[in-house]
Amino acid sequence: MSASGLKNIKLAALNGSERTIVKVGDRRVGEGLTVIAGPCSVESEEQLLETAQKVKAAGADLLRGGVFKPRTSPYSFQGLGLKGLKLLRKARDETGLPVVTEVLDPRDVGWVSEYADVLQVGARNSQNFPLLKELGKTDKPVLLKRGMYSTIEEWLNSAEYILSGGNPNVILCERGIRTFETYTRNTLDLSAIPSLKELTHLPVISDPSHGTGKASLIEPMSMASVACGADGLILEVHRNPSEALSDKEQALTPEQFSELMRKLRPLEKFLGGLR
Ligand code: PEP
Ligand code: MN
Repeated sequence: MSASGLKNIKLAALNGSERTIVKVGDRRVGEGLTVIAGPCSVESEEQLLETAQKVKAAGADLLRGGVFKPRTSPYSFQGLGLKGLKLLRKARDETGLPVVTEVLDPRDVGWVSEYADVLQVGARNSQNFPLLKELGKTDKPVLLKRGMYSTIEEWLNSAEYILSGGNPNVILCERGIRTFETYTRNTLDLSAIPSLKELTHLPVISDPSHGTGKASLIEPMSMASVACGADGLILEVHRNPSEALSDKEQALTPEQFSELMRKLRPLEKFLGGLR
């Protein structure tokens, strides 16, 4: 047992007050509020580039977009793969925003790293140990989502796999857990954010999009996440949510995202003054 009372949490444990800052391009995740925004899936050049330009104009720090989609049904849109990665590269070149994309398969880590600035491990792969081990061998920043059935201890053990492999660049992402509640898609566990702040030095971000599954709830849960001490947010934004090929119910329009950003920056400043 470590000082935290959690089993085998060694490298992820908060020892003293030194917090990890994960550098992504010229951004520093863990310092101030990092906002990651973009579509759930990369769908086409026009869709991605328009969304990327708009989230950049609204003040996003990083662009998200999935090209390998872990869908519940094999008949649902599975993502554009390599073609999507090339589009992400183009969007990064045009906007200067570093890109975050999910990797599903350990065999893809090497070549996907050539296109992505941050590799995302999705909730469904949070305990895919071969994938975590492979990510431990790189120095790419990893955005590690919480598994939908993972305890905080299990989640930190997943981070420990990456850290103990030699990669110190891990960002934790609370994305909601399965509970008996069905009105929301998941239950965003806000208490995980301050809990992690007392357990680990790793940056912690929040994903209210998957955490609620409802566009109308993104703004209050984003503000609440920031108030709870989140180092960042990852938000799904689509130029036309009703046409999104995945997660349309939870996508913000670029205008809604822009409006939210106008509220988040003063909130960040206000909270900074209290801490
Ligand atoms: C996503 O970010 O689009 C995604 C699939 O998230 P999660 O793994 O949290 O469900
Ligand atoms: Mn999604």
